[in-house]
Amino acid sequence: FGFKGCQKIRGPQIRSLLEAKDYILFDCDGVIWHGEKAITGAAKVVSSLIRHGKNVVFVTNNSTRPRENYVHKFCRLGFTDVMLEQIFSSSYCSALYLRDVVKVCGQVFVIGCDGLRRELQEAGIPCVEEADDPDATIYNCALAPDVKAVLVGHDDQLTFLKLAKASCYLRDPDCVFLATDNDPWHPLSSGRILPGSGSLIAALEVASGRKATVIGKPSRFMFECISSQFRGVDPAQCLMIGDRLETDMLFGSNCGFDTMLTLTGVSQIEEAQEYRNSELTTNQSLVPDYVVDTIADFLPAFEGLEE
Ligand code: PLP
Ligand code: CA
Repeated sequence: FGFKGCQKIRGPQIRSLLEAKDYILFDCDGVIWHGEKAITGAAKVVSSLIRHGKNVVFVTNNSTRPRENYVHKFCRLGFTDVMLEQIFSSSYCSALYLRDVVKVCGQVFVIGCDGLRRELQEAGIPCVEEADDPDATIYNCALAPDVKAVLVGHDDQLTFLKLAKASCYLRDPDCVFLATDNDPWHPLSSGRILPGSGSLIAALEVASGRKATVIGKPSRFMFECISSQFRGVDPAQCLMIGDRLETDMLFGSNCGFDTMLTLTGVSQIEEAQEYRNSELTTNQSLVPDYVVDTIADFLPAFEGLEE
């Protein structure tokens, strides 16, 4: 396999790479923003790409917001030309999966934020209503009789009772086990971390003895959602830009895209080089083709270009 990849690129090389690609796929957190703060130059890069006729899409594992909420966030952070149709979140794609792949007929038990439930409602998928009873325990609570799927995402109101109920529903082999994403943790600007959905899913996988089907990156399903919307996307025309090797670069490799790591987020270039230099061939899927310090490195690539 040789030591391919991890190529640090700048202005003219970025320009020729962009000329070769029709679809630019952006991860969100760590690439275009950090939480509520846009990365310097990112809004300008996104609007330049759109003005130069590129199809720009956003692929985020964050399941906590419905897509319309993302449109507001983009606007608030200065990305004023992003539309609903460009946003592919793990919550939206989970709703599509339940509707179009599982074709679920029955209720879905959701561990997740309200935004995830809203996205399912939008797709016409009924969710089990959580009763607000402080005295409920796994010994005395009712279980819904028609739960056909358990969907697990980020949940900042997680309780033992929710985990216990989900474990009971998953005893039924016909009940589908889905995860919005399997991210282990997320950085906070304070230097602290947030446990990711992956940590909740691990708990339920142990309790149920089953493996969840993951909808978000690195699973290919998000690309299937993108390509069914933009008919006839050729993976060779796509560039995936992300900050985490184990989700974004692997997603890009799984879909057959060229990949770019930006160093404003989780993964460091040394980790990418370690994967590249490792003997394990499976590690090669985690190696980015290209590396930039920040997405703002794209700005010189647009200089002197006609719009
Ligand atoms: N899920 C949650 C709950 C998050 O807070 C984040 C990032 O902040 C993510 C997922 C990862 O999002 P992305 O795929 O845009 O990096
Ligand atoms: Ca990210």
